[in-house]
Amino acid sequence: MTQTTTKYIFVTGGVSSSLGKGIIAASLAKLLQSQGYRVTIQKLDPYINIDPGTLNPYEHGECYVTDDGAETDLDLGHYERFLNVPTSQANNVTTGRIYQSVIDKERLGVFLGKTVQVIPHITDEIKHRIQLLGSSGDFDIVITEIGGTVGDIESLPYVEAVRQLKWEMGNNNAIAIHLTLIPYLSAAGELKTKPTQHSVKTLMESGVQADILVCRTEHELSQSIRTKLARFCNVKEECVIQSIDASTIYDVPNLMLEEGLDKVVLKQLNLERHQPDLTSWNTFLQRHKNPTDEVKIGLIGKYVELQDSYKSILEAFTHAGAANEVKVEVESIHSEHITAKNVSELLSNLDGILVAPGFGERGIEGKIEAIRYVRKNNIPFFGICLGMQMAVIEFARTVLGLSDANSSEMNETTKNPVIDLMEDQKQIENMGGTMRLGAWECTLSSPSISYDAYKKDTINERHRHRYEYNNSYKKQLEEKGMIATGINPDTGLVEIVEIPTHPWFVGVQYHPEYKSTVANPHPLFKAFIEAALRHKTSN
Ligand code: GLN
Repeated sequence: MTQTTTKYIFVTGGVSSSLGKGIIAASLAKLLQSQGYRVTIQKLDPYINIDPGTLNPYEHGECYVTDDGAETDLDLGHYERFLNVPTSQANNVTTGRIYQSVIDKERLGVFLGKTVQVIPHITDEIKHRIQLLGSSGDFDIVITEIGGTVGDIESLPYVEAVRQLKWEMGNNNAIAIHLTLIPYLSAAGELKTKPTQHSVKTLMESGVQADILVCRTEHELSQSIRTKLARFCNVKEECVIQSIDASTIYDVPNLMLEEGLDKVVLKQLNLERHQPDLTSWNTFLQRHKNPTDEVKIGLIGKYVELQDSYKSILEAFTHAGAANEVKVEVESIHSEHITAKNVSELLSNLDGILVAPGFGERGIEGKIEAIRYVRKNNIPFFGICLGMQMAVIEFARTVLGLSDANSSEMNETTKNPVIDLMEDQKQIENMGGTMRLGAWECTLSSPSISYDAYKKDTINERHRHRYEYNNSYKKQLEEKGMIATGINPDTGLVEIVEIPTHPWFVGVQYHPEYKSTVANPHPLFKAFIEAALRHKTSN
């Protein structure tokens, strides 16, 4: 289906943060995609960092990475998992990036003679970034999610850009969806619409009339509440969409379908509605909700108390679980709490452990203890990025007898830097955007666990790290049984290590979790869950 013009849907949020704009945007996109439309989603973040790459996961959750090496908001992960279409740098724009490009242009003399101002220069840059995806010709519909909450000072230029675009493009080409909260006051036993009325009014003060309200609620919205909302917020009654709490985010597309969100969106955009084809989506849901078995996986990291820090890993488990028709029960274990003394008590009842990515020294000795335990006790092990690096260190210390083996990230002066900085990283001074980022090719050797999982010779996976497996230890490591089974064909860097004598021991330098989607569960996650299931049955 080709459209002559791209249509735009803006999603704003009101009343409260964390209402799940990303999930609503992704669910709507899924419904439109399942009717044959080419859809993409963009996230505009109103903070001044250039990207979330330098943010602590405690601040901002996981940093998601795209094929083109952009360090982005974790909502892009939801977009890819729902749509199975890769995103790129253009899908995530921050205020920092907007200002940086305007200021760069100012220095170049692009605005010579003019005073550079928020309106029109910043708003023009925002409008340009919004239309960039549409002008590629690759999409019929672009959904742009505005981060933050309406009324925030930092959101104002974005709302102004939305106002201008809606005006310029016309009602049938650009619409605004406002996601809001309908709180339930238990003392009064009532759902309350007032915060939403105020939030819609705040949006109107900036000149934007919401076309559709998506109302987050813990209880069903009665007809009278819908009528009231429609009347006071200037929207048609059919445009008051209920978004009730769901047991899984993957239910939301179907819930939005029942509420007719796609119907009112397409009607307003003057686009034809087709019967959505959600067959494979529903097959996934069916499997996800009806597991025939269960495995217990330990997730070892230092941000485990925060769900969002390892978002993509948890979602990849959901996809892999459904593929195997098993429930994956993830037990989070704080790496700082693991010692040689308690490791057996903490890990012995698990069917597999995953050692998470991370930066810095905190918690690494606990990760190494955990890896030593599962390596010796034949428990399936999956190490990602820092998790893979720790597996190499553990093996070098215990099996090669290099007791001071370490990563030069943790100990710059170690005599045995089995994980080390490459020459090209040594000159780098800037912290932002300078790691090995984005998709890199990797050649698999066969036979290997990885080859078995991927069933091909060459793969492409996304990276986000500075330190690398040190090839000067490769010979020793391989002689003692830790084999490099995945190599970057251009640089010779080791991307995968395995121990063939162990039932399932795999460490990967890249982040497979970023590429796992509902339609394409990641092969290594799938194989890891299979191995965990085998481990459980054999015990
Ligand atoms: N800190 C390690 C590095 O920079 C690993 C990074 C990661 O786990 N993403 O190489």
